[in-house]
Amino acid sequence: MKHWEGLGYYSRARNLKKSAIIIVRDFHGKLPKSYEKLIELPGVGEYTSKAIMSIAFNVKTIPLDGNVERILKRTLYLKKQNEISKDFLITKINFFGLSDRASDYSQAIMEIGALICKPKNPSCKECPLNKNCISFKKNDFELTKINKEIKTKYFEATIYKKHNNYLLVKNDKFKFLKNMPIFPMTEVRESKYNYSNNKKINIKLSNMEMKILLNNAKRPPKIKNKILIKKDKLSSEIIPSFTKKIFYTIAKSE
Ligand code: SF4
Repeated sequence: MKHWEGLGYYSRARNLKKSAIIIVRDFHGKLPKSYEKLIELPGVGEYTSKAIMSIAFNVKTIPLDGNVERILKRTLYLKKQNEISKDFLITKINFFGLSDRASDYSQAIMEIGALICKPKNPSCKECPLNKNCISFKKNDFELTKINKEIKTKYFEATIYKKHNNYLLVKNDKFKFLKNMPIFPMTEVRESKYNYSNNKKINIKLSNMEMKILLNNAKRPPKIKNKILIKKDKLSSEIIPSFTKKIFYTIAKSE
């Protein structure tokens, strides 16, 4: 977890370990050669199981990653919101056909996306798909993005410090940063946030814009799963960037 720090997606590290344990226990230490069994492993979804089936086991299937999505959107000229959803794009994957060299073939398609059909300035003249590409014919390579709604939420974080130790809590309350150390927080109303003169910090986490009031407490909040962290030990502890940002904001005003 220390090495993973700062990369985000902490659940990936936990799922890797959980899956490794299951593979050793139930599959004699070898990845199961079945889409249905792979997809049951923690952290393995549709894309990863198809990628393993195709790349590792040469099974005729094409995993839909961001690069493959981009090729489909361009070749088939898909622009509307309902046409660019993952579910819809999966229904169009047969555009590529299949090959007996499944492993090479799916990697080759991903590489076309990564190296030729690039997000900006695609190299269409070098592209083996240019005869079948509507975007090329129309000379329009603009990609439509999925409209993700950014939600603004308001929080109050309790900052309690004693003898240079800060009090954090192992997060079992919020869906974000599950089981990671955060400052004790509660969600508050927008009006409470707006009318408070306390120090404030904005942090964007995934599709959430978090506006956080920093409330210095004289007494420790009554909470379970407390963790005490010394500020000078911050770099040697497993702390998410989210919590560090709050630390640094507090440190500036001390
Ligand atoms: S012809 Fe151009 S736009 Fe079409 S798939 Fe190839 S690189 Fe992408």
